[in-house]
Amino acid sequence: MKRTPLIAGNWKMNTTTDEAIRLVKEILERLEDDIRTEVVLCPPFISLYPVFQMLSSEHIFLGAQNLHYEESGAFTGEISAAMLKPFCKYVIIGHSERRQLFGETDEIINLKLKKALQAGITPILCLGETLERREAGEAEEAIASQLKSSLGDISDIQSMVIAYEPIWAIGTGVNAQTGEVNLIMERIRQTISDIFGPSSADRIRLLYGGSVNSQNAADYFSCETIDGALVGGASLKAEQFVSIIQQAAKAGF
Ligand code: PEP
Repeated sequence: MKRTPLIAGNWKMNTTTDEAIRLVKEILERLEDDIRTEVVLCPPFISLYPVFQMLSSEHIFLGAQNLHYEESGAFTGEISAAMLKPFCKYVIIGHSERRQLFGETDEIINLKLKKALQAGITPILCLGETLERREAGEAEEAIASQLKSSLGDISDIQSMVIAYEPIWAIGTGVNAQTGEVNLIMERIRQTISDIFGPSSADRIRLLYGGSVNSQNAADYFSCETIDGALVGGASLKAEQFVSIIQQAAKAGF
């Protein structure tokens, strides 16, 4: 089955509001109107609204980098699904930086996934193994187990996107080889098929993330198992990011 390719840019804690506006302007100037790829921009919370006001394309959407799983209340510094919903079609959940630096467990990630789905925001669930697990030959096992423990009580898996982001490849300039990524993607699809059935497994989009740039992006897009990319550093450079999007569109998937 044909899945719509998706390229998401995770800006992390980068760009002031002015810089975000300038970056989006530059991206929009470089992008053709009819790109055959879905594009998701994930700026910091403070820039979601100004960027939202700049977007009119049917192909470019906003994503948040996180949300809180509670509805509202005494959670200083947090943001709820209801607050994001008017602006964001997507939300990144379980990024390895959230897991490692902010103590997010699979249990918390499961609560966040459920809250996003309930609110009608598509979660981009991030999974990734450490260098130690990879070197011990346990990458596939680590990913399958992270996936299973994130999915408790979830039935609408088709409305999710999964990003495989090996931790050792994030922000390091060391990107994973397509052969390794293919094996993991097959394992993810098999795990989803085992739990939700083959048609869900066939529909869900799987992204690769980890040091993707305009030089290596085409290798990933030539793989049948990969439906797009979650891009960090290179998404902050309009020329690079647009080139990645154009290569995805060209690959046609
Ligand atoms: C990310 O943070 O999701 C990511 C993939 O970063 P980078 O592309 O910089 O490795």
